[in-house]
Amino acid sequence: MVTPHPKVLISGASIAGPTLAYWLQKYGFDVTVVERALTLRLGGQSIDVNGPARKVARLMGIEEQIRAANTGEMGTHWVDKNNQIKASFPKDGANSLTQELEIVRGDLVQILYDLTKENMTYHFDDQIQELSEEANQVHVTFASGRQESYDLVVAADGIRSSTRKLMFGDEPVFKYLGLCTAYLTIAKAETDTQWARWYTADDSRMLLLRPDREGTTRASINFLLSEEEYRKVNKQNKKEILLARLEGAGWEAERLAREVEKSDDIYLDGVGQIKAPCWAKGRFAMIGDAAYCPAPISGKGTTLAFTGAYLLAGELATHDTYEEAFASYERIMRPYVESVQKLPPGVPRLAYPKTALGVSIVNAVVGIMASEPVQKIASVLGSSEEEKEELQDGTPLPEYHVENKR
Ligand SMILES: Cc1cc2nc3c(=O)[nH]c(=O)nc-3n(C[C@H](O)[C@H](O)[C@H](O)COP(=O)(O)OP(=O)(O)OC[C@H]3O[C@@H](n4cnc5c(N)ncnc54)[C@H](O)[C@@H]3O)c2cc1C
Repeated sequence: MVTPHPKVLISGASIAGPTLAYWLQKYGFDVTVVERALTLRLGGQSIDVNGPARKVARLMGIEEQIRAANTGEMGTHWVDKNNQIKASFPKDGANSLTQELEIVRGDLVQILYDLTKENMTYHFDDQIQELSEEANQVHVTFASGRQESYDLVVAADGIRSSTRKLMFGDEPVFKYLGLCTAYLTIAKAETDTQWARWYTADDSRMLLLRPDREGTTRASINFLLSEEEYRKVNKQNKKEILLARLEGAGWEAERLAREVEKSDDIYLDGVGQIKAPCWAKGRFAMIGDAAYCPAPISGKGTTLAFTGAYLLAGELATHDTYEEAFASYERIMRPYVESVQKLPPGVPRLAYPKTALGVSIVNAVVGIMASEPVQKIASVLGSSEEEKEELQDGTPLPEYHVENKR
């Protein structure tokens, strides 16, 4: 970029925002991050850092920190209503749900914040209220009343990004996939071990319990919900909705209902994707879930957030103009995003049977997938191989050799 130390404002201090901030600061940009919440939001279950994101984490020098913060999950047991194990997917086996770099989301957010906080400004409890693009800068008015000008503004504020709306208007829309997910942290019980437990109930419900490092258990409650019903979900009625869905689900649903009743930290939202026609406009750009949320069921939200942030920073540092950099970021990143956003047919509905018979069929199919012969075939076919640190079809992740002139 022509300006010596371009001033960049990033909205959102989760995964995408601080990753972009790290790289931009390293390349000599002057970075500010604004976060709407009062403090870092550390909720959520385990997330994976895989594919090209693992390489980005290594280049940032935090791969070992992420490995050290591993949840210690040994794999997933697929259980029935009597907690009998119907199938097991150990961490190192084929078709495993547990990844090598598996970390509780809040731990990763904290690592990224600690890595960046000394070298840039973080403003919590504030958000962008107005954006006005002028010839050489963007004038920003914050909810706190503060006003400031920047060279560029990047939205990294998640799937419901309000900054995206200020930048792009009503495009893109959130594509709801018919599934709702709630996350909450609950007290550890005797039945909880270092194995995740996945339970499918009738009436299109699924419960998942996973270990963490803090001696608590991370629970998620998942259920199919029509779009019409989903539109009625709000902060006030979320507990009521969850309690209704847990009723009669069997297994440890009553325990979960008790936890829902007393929890003050429940994250409940629809599962969906963001497919934006473009990720930049004028001096504005977006990254992470705000731009291309692939849906949590893809297991790739964090990977896309890391990769996109790294690419956007690298392209900005190696092009003369932000217009060229934005165009190049899209050119490299879009085919990768499109490959990740392709969900297999029938997802998520097939995993959420309506009837008890449907549940037995799902459990039987999963039992076959976990069986020794299928595991062997899968490993021969390579599905147990470590995921490659490349973009789609073997395209290498670009390396940027930039001298910081600060
Ligand atoms: C509390 C929470 C729990 C989550 N739990 C899980 C989970 O268990 N499993 C999973 O797969 N994914 C989870 N996610 C989503 C996951 O973090 C993302 O899919 C992925 O890591 C990409 O991250 P991101 O930085 O693009 O967006 P996000 O992680 O969604 O972060 C967006 C950040 O922007 C902030 N923000 C929102 N609006 C504004 C605004 N107007 N101005 C300033 N800041 C704003 C938010 O507070 C948040 O810190 C969770 C997200 C959050 C926020």
